[in-house]
Amino acid sequence: MGWLTNWRRRRVLRKHRIDDALWQQATSRLRFIPQTPKMRQLSLLFLAEKQFVGARELEVTDAMRLSIAAQACLPVLELGLDWYAGFTGIVVYPGDFRVRRSEIDEHGVVHEWDDELAGEAMPGGPVVLSWDAAANDPEMNVVIHEFAHKLDMLSGAADGVPPLHVGMSRAAWLKAFADAYEGFCDAVERQRETWLDPYAAEHPSEFFAVISEAFFKDPAETRRRYPAVFDQLRLFYKQDPS
Ligand SMILES: [Zn+2]
Repeated sequence: MGWLTNWRRRRVLRKHRIDDALWQQATSRLRFIPQTPKMRQLSLLFLAEKQFVGARELEVTDAMRLSIAAQACLPVLELGLDWYAGFTGIVVYPGDFRVRRSEIDEHGVVHEWDDELAGEAMPGGPVVLSWDAAANDPEMNVVIHEFAHKLDMLSGAADGVPPLHVGMSRAAWLKAFADAYEGFCDAVERQRETWLDPYAAEHPSEFFAVISEAFFKDPAETRRRYPAVFDQLRLFYKQDPS
């Protein structure tokens, strides 16, 4: 980003601040959010640069906006907001929402179906979230999940490999994730109880999004169960939440 963005950001930080009570209200239930000035500053910039839209007449309150902003900012706390450039919209539904899907198979036949979603990250477009899932589902963190997809998509299609930093080894990333993903899919296929949401077996990109949630929400356990993947995530996110 250029000097104009930097100037705007400095101006936002100079002229605005997040109300203490509002910050408490928005993050008190989110124990994994660091209570630091840096976290609050980044959340403030996020609010200034992103546009929230309520769907189905949902009124998006300041506390809702801030709660989403803080969770979205956690993965880029050490990377910076430029990693979320390229889209501004965040659409918030009151609950899960339906989307129409279609796919053309190898015989040229079009298949159509409805999906019920808690969140969606559109390539080049907005992030869509269910507020009910964001606020009340202890099994998942839909905000971190969808924003992890956004980071993944920065290097083209969502394939579980975001743009790696200089000094990181693509081979090490691929090996760590392929080993973990294979083992995980195997466990899901055998219908074993899994620590991560079985949804992570859908695709390598889902595995990356789901284990990114775990990395921030339950870092010690993620490190214990997936040490090689944890290491790669620590290098990519440039932070060690454990
Ligand atoms: Zn996903």
